This record gives sequence, structure tokens and C-alpha cells, in this order.
Amino acid sequence: MVSIIHIPNEPLLARNFVAGRWIELSDSSVITAPYTGASSVRIQGASGDLVTRAVVHAHSASLSWRQVPIKERTTVLLRFRELLLRDLDQLAHYAAWEAGKTLAEGRAEVLKGIEVLEYASSLQNSDTGGVLEVSRGVTCEYRREPLGVVAGITPFNFPAMVPMWMIPIAIALGNSFILKPSDRVPYTPCRIAEIFAEAGLPPGVFTILQGGKEVVDEIIHHNLVQAVAFVGSSSVARDVYRKTTSLGKRALCLGGAKNHLIVVPDADPKITVEGVVSSFTGCAGQRCMAASVLVAVGEVDHIISQVKDAAAALVLGRDMGALIDSHALRRLHLAIEKADQEGAKIILDGRAGKAPSGFEKGMWLAPTILDYVKPEMECVTNELFGPVLSIIRVRTLDEALELDKKSAYGNATSVFTTSGAVARVVSERSHSGMIGINIGVPVPREPFSFGGTKESKFGYGDITGSGGVEFWSNRKKITAKWAAQTDKNWMS
Ligand code: NAD
Repeated sequence: MVSIIHIPNEPLLARNFVAGRWIELSDSSVITAPYTGASSVRIQGASGDLVTRAVVHAHSASLSWRQVPIKERTTVLLRFRELLLRDLDQLAHYAAWEAGKTLAEGRAEVLKGIEVLEYASSLQNSDTGGVLEVSRGVTCEYRREPLGVVAGITPFNFPAMVPMWMIPIAIALGNSFILKPSDRVPYTPCRIAEIFAEAGLPPGVFTILQGGKEVVDEIIHHNLVQAVAFVGSSSVARDVYRKTTSLGKRALCLGGAKNHLIVVPDADPKITVEGVVSSFTGCAGQRCMAASVLVAVGEVDHIISQVKDAAAALVLGRDMGALIDSHALRRLHLAIEKADQEGAKIILDGRAGKAPSGFEKGMWLAPTILDYVKPEMECVTNELFGPVLSIIRVRTLDEALELDKKSAYGNATSVFTTSGAVARVVSERSHSGMIGINIGVPVPREPFSFGGTKESKFGYGDITGSGGVEFWSNRKKITAKWAAQTDKNWMS
């Protein structure tokens, strides 16, 4: 039984949202649904002229929006939150349908986006700036100000959540936000735009520009765009970071991942099996926080065999969704073949997975486990982005941490152990930005920020939480002397 409950008869239409209105364009291209392989969305890509028009509108909207007190700006966000909860099932459905997730995963991503929104709404009470009397009669004050027009470029794997990592904080702080969603999941953000408008967000404060690389380049190069956040693959993240910062603009670009889960002999088998399996199979492995390498320290065969059994029991379409498209399916088949040729032992082969009835043309790959993998194999060095777990056997925790250090990526590392000392050593010595202890997907919750290291992040700071507040604003420093005094000091 597939968890998707309703499949639209006609392809959905993903348009551009500029100055509070939907723009009708004659040209469109078609995207296929992961569940069926059939046409699911028609997308109308923005032209260069439309990008310019949109940025100019966003700029003029930002001039008024920044004058609105934060309490009133966050009132719109709180209304937006109520409407998102009202439409939770519908949004979850669109996110699942576009990205190939289960409905539960679609719901979870919308709810995670709402957490960021709640944090952004709380800024009206918590972001108090700071003021101190630094000399007799002289005060220094921090005043937070918006940047103006800012932009976010987002990946396919979270059509609702990753845009929501950025939009609420940027808008709460008084910016106008331009979203360039993934051209593979362009529809869910359109519903977000409609809900925002219903909540009373003034036209031009939120804009959607559809398309791919050309639209991204136009946005980056427009002189009114002040900052760009990007989430996607490392090669594009590096490129967008380089282009944006070379123009003297602020950029934070999150890239790909190759997360290592370290399992030691004293690990609790139940917690470990649940953590490992949900991490590498959730969203069909298409998460930047997904486990992709299990580093087995010493004798942990009893855990590996249970991981294999639990993963083999998952039912496609019910417990696990589909890959995004036929390119991804082909790439993963080739990667499994290559690992086989390089000497890995395939202990669970997802290529033989059974497609759900009625969805045989979908992009299905069941969980796959490659054992006795060597660190130099492509399945370890490349981000596969699918439900494939590679197991590397090592003898000591030092060897496991050496693999973590050598990995080109640094998003997340988890350790499964019942020893506080082992957990502490991994937390201190891992080179990743986010550490899990007995947790397979260690996503920090607000007010903590999300962000990795190495090829997983280009730029300083983190996205979401307090990192997002710093990224989407400037702190102005005001030094004032009001006291009528006669003696001289450094301010005189
Ligand atoms: P992608 O890099 O192909 O695309 C991301 C965005 O960039 C999309 O909006 C796309 O239209 C645009 N784009 C594509 N090519 C471009 C180019 N040459 N120049 C400018 N823009 C371009 O990524 P994807 O396949 O959509 O998403 C999966 C990747 O995202 C994985 O690598 C995953 O690890 C990563 N990801 C990272 C995080 C994180 O927080 N680090 C979160 C989610 C996904």
C-alpha cells in the first residue's frame, strides 16, 4: 500500500510569483514524478527580464517592510504558521509527491520548517540587541538591521523544509526574500507563497523565481541582491559561493555530505539498529544528514546482521519512498556495480527490490548494504545520495576517527556507544560540524544552527537558529553621548 493518497490527474503548474502576483509565461517544461515516472509538474522558467523586474519589486517592498516594527512583522509570521498547520496535510502531500517521499516524511519536513518559523517569530522578544554605558554618559548600542533584498537557492530533497530554513528568519528581520526553488520540485513553494499572501505578507516581500543555473546567475549578479544562501551539491555550492563573494556580497553555501556512523562493540543493539536504518533509508537516502558509511569498530557483526534484517524488511512505497528521477536511479545502479567490481560484498541488494503494485514505472531502489568496503572506493569517496550503506571495518576508534578526518565532507558524524568516554572522544575529535551520540540524524533544533565543515559548507557561520539571524542582518553600532559634562574623555 503506497502512502501517497492522491495523485493529480493533470500536471501541476509551477509559476513565478512576483510583486504578489502569479506571472503567466507561454514556455514551460515538464518534470516527471518519482512515484510514477509520468509527467507531474509543468514549470515556467523565469527570463532575465523577469528576474530584473522581480528584484526591483522586491527592493521597493523591502524599503517599506524594514520600517514595519518586528512585532508586526512577526504577527504576519504567526498567522502564516496557523495557515501552514491548517494546510499541513496538503503541503506534506505535495512535498511527498514532488520529491518521492512517504507522506510521513512530507509531514515531518513541513513541521521542521514550522520550527524555524516559530524561532523567527520569537525574535520579537528575544533579539533585544544590547546596550552598555561604556564611559561616563556614553553608551554603545547594537541595532540589528535588514540587508534589503536577499535570495535563497534550494535543493530537490526538501521542497518545503530547506526554503523554510531561510525564509522566516530573513523576513522576520525585515528583508525581502527571493526563492529560487529546485527546478525538480518547484510546486510546493508555490503553495507556500499563496499561504504567505493569505497571511497578509505585503506583495514583493516574498518572491519565487523558477528555473536553473541561468536564473541563479541572474539573481547573484543583480546589484540590488545583497546576500545569497545556497543549499545543494558541493560543486554547485562552491561555484555559487565563489561567484557571490567575488562581487563583494555575503554568501553561505551548504553542500553535499558523506556522513559516517561509528559503531563500537558496547553499542546498544536496538538503539543502534533503529538509528542506522532510519538514517540511511529515510527519504530513500536523499538527505544531507543520511548515513552513508558505517564504520564498524571491532566485533559488531551481531549489530550488522540486525541492520541488514531491519533494512530488508522495509516495504517500498509504504516505509520508503522513491529516488528523484531516472538519472539518480541509473547513477546508483552504476555505483553499486562499481563497488561490486572493486571488491565490496553486497550483503543486501536493493536493485532486486519490489516496486509497489501500480507504481512499477517509479524510481525505486530498496535499501542496499555493501560490506568490506575500502576507504578509497568510489562508494566512500563520492556522495551517492540514495539508500546505500557502505561498511568499513576497522580495529580501533583511532582508525575510525582517521577516516572521519580524511573524508572530504564534514556534515555529520554519529557514534553509537554506551560509553560516555567514547562519546566524548568522538565529539571532540570528529571534524564534522554536527555530531550525533546514539542518534543517526543529528539535526540541531532551534535556537541551535545547522551547518557542516569542509566540502559540506562554503562560508562562515551556519544557517537556521542564531546563525541565520547573523547571516540575514547587519549589526549597526551606535555610540552616543548625552550627558552634559565638562571633563574630557576619549569621546570629546
Ligand atoms: P544541486 O546542486 O543539483 O541543485 C541545488 C540548486 O542549485 C537547485 O536550485 C538547482 O536548480 C541549482 N543549480 C543546479 N546547478 C546549478 C549551477 N550549475 N549553478 C547554479 N545553480 C545550480 O543539488 P540537488 O541535487 O538539488 O540536491 C541534492 C544535494 O543537496 C546533495 O548533494 C545534498 O547533500 C545537498 N544538500 C545539502 C544540505 C545541507 O544542509 N548541507 C541539505 C540538503 C541537500
